[in-house]
Amino acid sequence: MIRRFLGRVFSGRLFRPAQPKIIPHGTHRIDRGAISSGALRTTQSLQRRGFVAFVVGGAVRDLILGRRPKDFDVATNATPEEVRELFRRSRIIGRRFRLVHVMFGPETVEVSTFRGANPAEESDQHVADEHGRILRDNVFGTQEQDATRRDFTINALFYDPATQEVWDYHDGVADLKQRRLRMIGDPERRYREDPIRMLRAVRLGSSRGLEIDAPTRRPIRRLAGLLAHVPPSRLLDEMLKLLLSGHAAEGVAQLRKEGLHHGVLPLLDAAMGRAAGERFVIAALKSTDERVRAGKSLSPGFLFAALLWPEVNAEWKVLVEKGEPPIPALYRAMDHVIRAQAGKLAIPHRHAADMREIWAMQPRFLQRAGRRPYRLLELPRFRAGFDFLRQRCESGEIDTALGEWWERFQHAGEAERAQMLVSDAEPRKRRRRRRRGPRAAPGHGVVPGGEV
Ligand code: ATP
Ligand code: MG
Repeated sequence: MIRRFLGRVFSGRLFRPAQPKIIPHGTHRIDRGAISSGALRTTQSLQRRGFVAFVVGGAVRDLILGRRPKDFDVATNATPEEVRELFRRSRIIGRRFRLVHVMFGPETVEVSTFRGANPAEESDQHVADEHGRILRDNVFGTQEQDATRRDFTINALFYDPATQEVWDYHDGVADLKQRRLRMIGDPERRYREDPIRMLRAVRLGSSRGLEIDAPTRRPIRRLAGLLAHVPPSRLLDEMLKLLLSGHAAEGVAQLRKEGLHHGVLPLLDAAMGRAAGERFVIAALKSTDERVRAGKSLSPGFLFAALLWPEVNAEWKVLVEKGEPPIPALYRAMDHVIRAQAGKLAIPHRHAADMREIWAMQPRFLQRAGRRPYRLLELPRFRAGFDFLRQRCESGEIDTALGEWWERFQHAGEAERAQMLVSDAEPRKRRRRRRRGPRAAPGHGVVPGGEV
């Protein structure tokens, strides 16, 4: 303890805290008008009471990149209680590290007190697991320490709306200008502390068009296995961010390149190993990206249904070939795939329920006679099921004529619908007349789509 303290004194760390570069408006060009009114009011109120307060993190990064931030975070030297007292509509949240949510109409600003550096380095407390992963980091600190405990230099920028200055402790602005993603500190140690940072590197790189700096990138492949020790709920959050970033196709390709997909979506790995599976997944990711960029809504259940479909489809096919009736075979394949994935990503039950519904609808699209198509149309999740069918058509898995039929059927009038049904029912009648022998297997005609 004493040796470590003396070491710090002689290395000058206690006496010379790093000074931030103060970047003027002319260099960073953040438009103050782009700061949300909630974030402005939060920093103003805190500063008026004599506290230090900055807009921080992803919002500052995105503003300098000329993008509209999703949300605004504020960092301050006020304690959570002091923040809570200042804003009538606010509440303290979080157990691991307490933050304050300040509400302004529909907007919520997240206010956090400057947090200290990695305590494992500062004391003898056991706060990391055997792989170096930090289990606890809940100490207050200085602004400089708060900058240093953040992941990438471009995420450690503080913007003061009052002076329009950006405080930059790690040359983040220069990195942004050069479109470079660089870890603060020793990359390997930082990944060991929190392996999620590997996924964040890939996500930020692909979604913000940044090059991952070589020393930041190098250890990833070797350390990818550490993701196995991250709680599945955090993995899910980070994967959803990647998949809904509008750059999912690129992000997933990058994950594979870095060897990170094994730990996150092992079944994706299997799917991508097959040409048709890969075509389907890539088409699904591209159409997800288009939807997100067009500002349309997207359900995580649909997305996971798409990512795992090649595996479900392949297992379904195998079971049917072994002689199992198609519908029970599909359910068995679904269960198996969901179970195999569960330990990794913790797909919540409500999303898993959506996935099942979408998958289970697929063989029903083949049944185009009698009342069945009408019943399918009435299902509350018909739209998702149909979008999924279209995706299968587009990827070449099944005949596009099927998708076109359903497109027409949905929008057709009563008479046209009836006509469409008749034409489809014809072969069935003929088949029935011919078949005098043993009964066909239940669900006859409902077969897994195309080669996988
Ligand atoms: P986006 O909001 O677009 O997902 P972001 O960088 O804002 O990106 P958040 O999860 O909102 O991501 O995190 C806010 C800030 O908190 C980050 O900019 C970064 O400074 C810090 N941060 C987030 N996750 C980590 C982490 N795993 N390790 C260190 N710092 C982190
Ligand atoms: Mg953010």
